[in-house]
Amino acid sequence: MKSEAPNQNITIWFNNGFVRLGDANVNILTHALNYGSGVFEGIRGYYDEKKKELFLNRVLDHYERWKLNCGVLRINVPPSTNELCEITAELCRRNAFESNVYVRPLAYKASARIGVAADENDAYAITVLPFGNYFEGRKGLKAGVVSWRRIEDSAIPGRAKICGAYVNSVLAGDEARHNGHDEAIFLNQDGHVAEGATCNLFMWRHHRLITPPVTDNILEGITRASIMELARNELKLEVVERSIDRSELYMCDEVFFTGTAVEVAPVTHIDHRPVGDGEIGVITTKLRSLYADATRGRIPAYRDWLWPVYRSGIIEKTA
Ligand code: PMP
Repeated sequence: MKSEAPNQNITIWFNNGFVRLGDANVNILTHALNYGSGVFEGIRGYYDEKKKELFLNRVLDHYERWKLNCGVLRINVPPSTNELCEITAELCRRNAFESNVYVRPLAYKASARIGVAADENDAYAITVLPFGNYFEGRKGLKAGVVSWRRIEDSAIPGRAKICGAYVNSVLAGDEARHNGHDEAIFLNQDGHVAEGATCNLFMWRHHRLITPPVTDNILEGITRASIMELARNELKLEVVERSIDRSELYMCDEVFFTGTAVEVAPVTHIDHRPVGDGEIGVITTKLRSLYADATRGRIPAYRDWLWPVYRSGIIEKTA
């Protein structure tokens, strides 16, 4: 997916204040720009036309993960997770967004000088943009296993959204697209299936929903956690976290990706072979629609995932 250049007049949070996106610039020598020493997040908000409400999805969980990830690089983000949610909601209100949105928090080593050694000069920004579908259309994806391996925890932790680490995903995505696929599948150093370039992976095989464990060099996805919860609670499926072999992808019934941006994305072909019968599977379809309902406030049991921006009170009233 390539998104369009955003409107530069959008208000964002930068250097502890509200500024125009076009005025939020950093020095060319900024440590994070030169050495990748930043940590980012990706959060979605879903707009409900009828309720005139914008629901930020699992925003508290995302900010908790962000702060823990920042700890890996010893980047300090002073506000509490609640305050970060409030800043994000205020950005949506100031921009009067009445559409789905994507939130991009970014914390980084901010010193502008030569030298890899990091200091305590930390900064962060939060940008909220209108956002549509990550993958074009709603058809099944063609994925391919790439020759690049997923980064090892002992080199750069993949469970943290560290800016520099995303070169791994850029290389993988680039190779996959040049080989005629829509998305990449990474193997880890052990040769097991890890995840997509920007999403986690699930497989439906022998009537079990299977996904790699968090110790297989994956990002600990929040959508992954949501899907495991929905699968267990709503569909009463057996969900198993275990390593997956590449050849299992050729023999299973269904595969789908999960992620904040990709949501639940069915994979119908892997390495030019059909997954199952090559059509979007039943389990994937059910989970995709449950996820869409839960993230739009349509299932009371999951309303506590959502942070209403315009405080319409709908959540309290209908729960
Ligand atoms: N894996 C990688 C490498 C990612 O970049 C993402 C997107 N954050 C995911 C998985 C999915 O994580 P989440 O569901 O928390 O967005």
